[in-house]
Amino acid sequence: MHIVSFSRLQLFRQCPYRYYLRYVKKLPEPPSEPLELGKAVHTAIELTYHGTPRGEAVDRAVRNAALPVSAAEVAALVRNADIVPGVGEVEAEFMLRLDQGMWLYGLVDWIVMKDDGTAVVTDWKTNRVEEDVLVTHQLDLYAAAAFRVFGARRVVTRYVFVRTGNVHEKTYDAPPEEALDWAKETAAEIIERGEAEEHFRPNHGLWCRYCPFAMQCYALWGRI
Ligand code: SF4
Repeated sequence: MHIVSFSRLQLFRQCPYRYYLRYVKKLPEPPSEPLELGKAVHTAIELTYHGTPRGEAVDRAVRNAALPVSAAEVAALVRNADIVPGVGEVEAEFMLRLDQGMWLYGLVDWIVMKDDGTAVVTDWKTNRVEEDVLVTHQLDLYAAAAFRVFGARRVVTRYVFVRTGNVHEKTYDAPPEEALDWAKETAAEIIERGEAEEHFRPNHGLWCRYCPFAMQCYALWGRI
């Protein structure tokens, strides 16, 4: 059985060599400030959902971060997350069948099922560049899971950008086939490449500046 996630598929599409180092060789990626900030914000929102007062939730989330993050910044970002304590489910896990023996694992930040069968799927983002997020298939795939795993008859997805408070909504009346095809094809390509390093070539781009494996990559491949 092959299990993939949206982030794995997306990383493979962006740079196969980074994917190889992270998921085939299983090299740990060191914590980074943006990653730890994002985790702290999500932890604080989840604690708030479970009834912890916001100030205390932020303090606990910041204390648990692997790198120092600003409590004031986390508090400001959490304030823009429109969570309603106790309503729906946060960190809702799913396994969506993509093909025979191929599954997509995911974790929905917040899902609320309404009486009319509509699922409202929310993902909180701490990204500074909203366009980079909006062009991906993440919430299309989560919408497919809402139909097929959570039993929704209609789905509304929402990216909530907590830096600006901007909300991008999209409505679906059926699972988005284009996104499912993208996931299936990408997963099949990963499986086909096997585990040999030479099958995962680097793909240089703006994202290299945030890559923890850059030195290793340049030493082996140089700039190509
Ligand atoms: S430095 Fe760039 S090309 Fe090399 S592994 Fe990292 S993301 Fe890929």
